[in-house]
Amino acid sequence: MTELALVAALAKRLPRIGDDCAIVPHGPEDLLFTTDLLVEDVHFRRAERTAADVGYRALARSLSDIAAMGGEPRWATVALALPPWATGRWVAGFYDGLIALAAQHRTEVVGGDFSRALALTADVMVCGTAPKGQALRRDRARPGDLIYVSGPLGRGKWRFPPRLALGQQLRKLGATSCMDLSDGLSLDLHRLAVASRVAADLHTVPLARGASLSDGLHRGEDYELLFTLPPGAKPPRLTHAIGRILRGQPGLVTYNGGQVTPDGHDHFRSQPHPRTP
Ligand SMILES: [Mg+2]
Repeated sequence: MTELALVAALAKRLPRIGDDCAIVPHGPEDLLFTTDLLVEDVHFRRAERTAADVGYRALARSLSDIAAMGGEPRWATVALALPPWATGRWVAGFYDGLIALAAQHRTEVVGGDFSRALALTADVMVCGTAPKGQALRRDRARPGDLIYVSGPLGRGKWRFPPRLALGQQLRKLGATSCMDLSDGLSLDLHRLAVASRVAADLHTVPLARGASLSDGLHRGEDYELLFTLPPGAKPPRLTHAIGRILRGQPGLVTYNGGQVTPDGHDHFRSQPHPRTP
């Protein structure tokens, strides 16, 4: 079982799933919905993170999905399942980190839920908006488009900045596709290429300090944006051209012509362990 297979099976029954956010037409704009789980001992170990760090990241991951669609975040709900070790003080700290980030991006926390659990589990749902029909998707890349990433890869920060301003800029610029890099370039680019029914050839991978090529290709949790622009379009500052979309076997990813296995993070294939320094 892989996460890819689970989503593919569900997509037959739920046709609106499969992108970073669901797009729901509503009045003069489109609503964007995303939800992300952060689970103790899967995504983090409590000894290594402050409560505020966990709260920050729980919201940041959902905001990154809104960024990937070129949207503007508006409202969030927060569901927290607490094990016995999580005190009222811990929960207050969690909300300190979360609310500070929400305020930075003018996102209002409008509700949530509490329960008990064996491991701490936070689920943050964010609803955002985009102009009608203009949200960026991952299924519109075309042969000839150039592939870009928004920053060096392989050493994701725990408190990463969600690329909301860049996402909105890319929407206005007419990016043909976009997604956030949550599970590693090799796997996420494969997903984008499957959705767009194209192949992708990389010619370079910009690496963060201390990262190996394998880290840059396969290590998850960079939360940079991966996007495509038509040839001739001027890319935003501080982004890196990394390859080109090709006609070919849908989902095939190559690096200077050699095949790259989509070997990023899949919850149901790899052993759960926290991966970000
Ligand atoms: Mg995503």
